[in-house]
Amino acid sequence: MKVLLLAHTEGDGSLGKAALEALGAAKSLGGELLIGLYGAEVQAAANSIAGCDAMKFFGVAGADFSTARYGSDAAACEALAKAAGAELIVMPATSRASRVAAGVAQRLGAAVDTRLTGLEVADSKVVATRWFYRQRMVGRIERDARPWLVTVDTGCFEACTAPGTASVEMLAATVTTRTQVTGIKAPAADAQTIRPDAKLLLVAGAGWGKSQPDGQKHLDEASQLILGLLSATQCSLGSSKSLVDQSGDGGALPFLTHMHQVGQTGSTPRHAKGLATCCHGEEPHVVGWRFINERRAVNLDASCGWAQGKADVLYVADAFAVANKVVELLK
Ligand SMILES: Cc1cc2nc3c(=O)[nH]c(=O)nc-3n(C[C@H](O)[C@H](O)[C@H](O)COP(=O)(O)OP(=O)(O)OC[C@H]3O[C@@H](n4cnc5c(N)ncnc54)[C@H](O)[C@@H]3O)c2cc1C
Repeated sequence: MKVLLLAHTEGDGSLGKAALEALGAAKSLGGELLIGLYGAEVQAAANSIAGCDAMKFFGVAGADFSTARYGSDAAACEALAKAAGAELIVMPATSRASRVAAGVAQRLGAAVDTRLTGLEVADSKVVATRWFYRQRMVGRIERDARPWLVTVDTGCFEACTAPGTASVEMLAATVTTRTQVTGIKAPAADAQTIRPDAKLLLVAGAGWGKSQPDGQKHLDEASQLILGLLSATQCSLGSSKSLVDQSGDGGALPFLTHMHQVGQTGSTPRHAKGLATCCHGEEPHVVGWRFINERRAVNLDASCGWAQGKADVLYVADAFAVANKVVELLK
């Protein structure tokens, strides 16, 4: 079986963690490994994995492929996949690759499955694992259709790096798109509070915006404490639906958006540890914690959802006081 790792380079010409993990997934299948890379430059990226035992490296490079753009990325992927002629094509589930995966599969006449969390050979068949219905059900998939293009989620496979010098066969890809990338608008690095690679997830719930025992709301203090914890621990920030809905209406904490919402209708992040604060721990929220290994919560209510077997440790305490003390100790 021929297996192609199909990945884009990052802005600095390297391969990102997601691409290295996708390589780990492709390599673990034990077939004939081929590599297809696209980006402004691909040689440095190919060199970083030169010793991965691939039979061949293919590349599509140039200014046209420096940033994410559907037309050029799809053309590059199509050219690389056709040259490789692999039965199985493995891509990282980055936003850039995910955007073109289905379209590339269509161009190749391939079957496609996205966001796999497992990929293995069992009884000589490739078996993929992914979650359905907002991570409530896990499914194992086999397909007879070939080629089969898959994207693999981050945090599920061992990253593979093997530096050396790779010989890359460069291919041409015809770009016909009229779309031009004129620039990228991104928040400042310290304004970015969603950090998928952080060890700890801090969840802020609606309690932060509620009247406290003195009968008053303390939104400014809540903001300072949450941002203080973030800055002291470099953790990732998540929130509950109730709080992001209020923040969207301009009522609560201005740095929260719907991107922060964890849960059934939000995200399902992966972190080693999680700390929920002022969040009740309702099932539609906690289902988003499926991939958080160690869970703790701070809540004034000793019979909140976290106490019903949903957290490893529940601190029945005032989150304002706890956060204050923790930030002080970390300083
Ligand atoms: C179809 C559907 C999908 C949903 N999807 C999601 C989803 O994706 N994500 C999600 O989060 N929710 C989701 N919900 C909503 C969910 O059921 C809850 O309503 C929501 O999670 C409640 O948010 P909360 O715990 O922050 O707020 P609340 O339920 O208001 O809880 C606030 C908590 O803060 C505590 N508190 C207050 N002050 C303090 C203090 N000083 N110190 C410590 N604790 C304090 C209170 O004791 C209380 O437990 C969904 C609901 C439905 C019906």
